[in-house]
Amino acid sequence: MSSLDTLFSLQARVALITGASRGIGFAVARIFGAAGARLALVARDAARLEQAAEQLRGQGYTVLACACDVSAETEVNSAVASVRAQFGRIDILVNNAGILQAGHITDFSAADWERMIAVNLNSAFYLSRAVAPLMIEQKSGRILNISSLTAQTGGVSGSVQYAASKGALLSFTKTLARDLAPHHITVNAIAPGQIETDMGALSDEARARIVGMIPLGRLGTPEDIAYAALFLASDAASYITGATIDVNGGILKR
Ligand code: NAP
Repeated sequence: MSSLDTLFSLQARVALITGASRGIGFAVARIFGAAGARLALVARDAARLEQAAEQLRGQGYTVLACACDVSAETEVNSAVASVRAQFGRIDILVNNAGILQAGHITDFSAADWERMIAVNLNSAFYLSRAVAPLMIEQKSGRILNISSLTAQTGGVSGSVQYAASKGALLSFTKTLARDLAPHHITVNAIAPGQIETDMGALSDEARARIVGMIPLGRLGTPEDIAYAALFLASDAASYITGATIDVNGGILKR
């Protein structure tokens, strides 16, 4: 039986986290760094990503910043290759990068639909496929997909394409879990509720209305998601795969 410290430690592990320049992804990087992981951060804006990387290096963590658009297959493949070249392994992949476009179905073009599916869903396919051979070779790995409450309930904001991308991510999670289980790789999802980030920014009126719908009486923080991610990435979760953890203050009504 491992000690609790060992069970939740990510010492010597390499974590690739997308959308890590701010919000939930940055919190996941910070908590994984505190647990001992070496970090590879992905986002598009190279200057902002480097700033985030510097902040984490200032806390003593080993960090590689890889600017990349996760919806572009070739960029993803070269980002994964550079993480492998730098660290020699990848133990944890967090598919977190995402975009939200709110509105009514009649507001959207086919290009809007395709863009959201590309960023929120195709990215998980490209990244998971790129890291899988290495994890298979290592005979271990963790893949975490950041979905949304919207996938299960239709959500309180967002759009049909956002909900569809996040719902598909849950089915993707379950089937990939089955594909990779024989290689001791687990694949799980987290479905956040309303979290305080740039994406989750609300007017005072909307904030009061949404907080009123949350049984625990507050919005979520990026750290609320990062702690669930740490659990799923740790040895403590080695028998959990294909699962979705709801982190939403109790708002879920199935
Ligand atoms: P955020 O604050 O808007 O941050 C999004 C991150 O993703 C940024 O680092 C952004 O950097 C990166 N990103 C966006 N498009 C990208 C692309 N094409 N390629 C690479 N990186 C990209 O969002 P957040 O609130 O932290 O959300 C993180 C995840 O949680 C998303 O998948 C979101 O759908 C999900 N989620 C959020 C909430 C919420 O209430 N906040 C609720 C449920 C689910 P660049 O712009 O520089 O690329």
